[in-house]
Amino acid sequence: MTMTETQILNKQAHIPSPIDIMGIPVIPFESYDQALKCVEEAIDSNRKSFWVAINPIKIYNAWHKPELLNLLRQTDVGICDGVGVSVASRILHGRSIKRCTGCDLFFKLLSLASRKKWGVYLLGASAESNAAARSELQKMYPNLRIVGWQDGYFEDSRRIIEQINSSRANLLFVAMGSPKQEHWIWRNRQAIEANFCMGVGGSFDIASGGLRRAPKIFRMTGTEFIFRLMIEPRKRWRIQKVLFLYFLRVIHKRLFGLAAPVEIQKN
Ligand code: UDP
Repeated sequence: MTMTETQILNKQAHIPSPIDIMGIPVIPFESYDQALKCVEEAIDSNRKSFWVAINPIKIYNAWHKPELLNLLRQTDVGICDGVGVSVASRILHGRSIKRCTGCDLFFKLLSLASRKKWGVYLLGASAESNAAARSELQKMYPNLRIVGWQDGYFEDSRRIIEQINSSRANLLFVAMGSPKQEHWIWRNRQAIEANFCMGVGGSFDIASGGLRRAPKIFRMTGTEFIFRLMIEPRKRWRIQKVLFLYFLRVIHKRLFGLAAPVEIQKN
């Protein structure tokens, strides 16, 4: 993989070099602490850093949608959210990547933010879920500075960005589902002044207690997708049925060196 501007920046920030997973760079963090350190460095040096949780569904969708592919390739840091990314790394490169899930990183960053007194902005979910998440998070981390919030059903992005910037938040978490949240951050990345931005999907619903988090056994074995399929079968099956095609393409690439062609869809 050629050295992009992003990767040069990553080197300066002591972020490990990315591993190419079917055209998408994924950072092989050794531990959550290493990932947290990189966020801390971005804040201390007042840099902006846009992180994306990478899972097989996002990679699969990116093959068909050039805009998403472009975004995932140019993002500052792609973390190994899904076990399917780790498995693909083993198949393609002979080494798996340790998982660093968006949801776990979200909670760990909040804990660090409360110790460091960083300001946090919570954008997304329904108004009720956002309010319940704030109240639960404040109980979990009493010193957490939630400096702003907004539900994820708004029309005027400019107004929201003004709010985020005037709140002087260091961390912006966007929970509007994928890939909507990633596109929103990407489109507005120049205007957003927060040092760190990441899409966190259903994490506010988990924080609020509205959505059950996968029990430990599923999390430890990287099989949360099975748990989600059990609790939201219709929705999750619609999303997850492409996993089979994802792995077929990974194996095709391993065997023949090139990934099988895909049809590009117009957005
Ligand atoms: N959501 C939102 N705005 C939208 C669509 C969705 O804020 O326009 C919220 C929704 O209320 C839920 C979250 O985004 O809290 C989506 O979670 P989901 O589990 O679908 O996301 P995933 O983790 O699958 O990307």
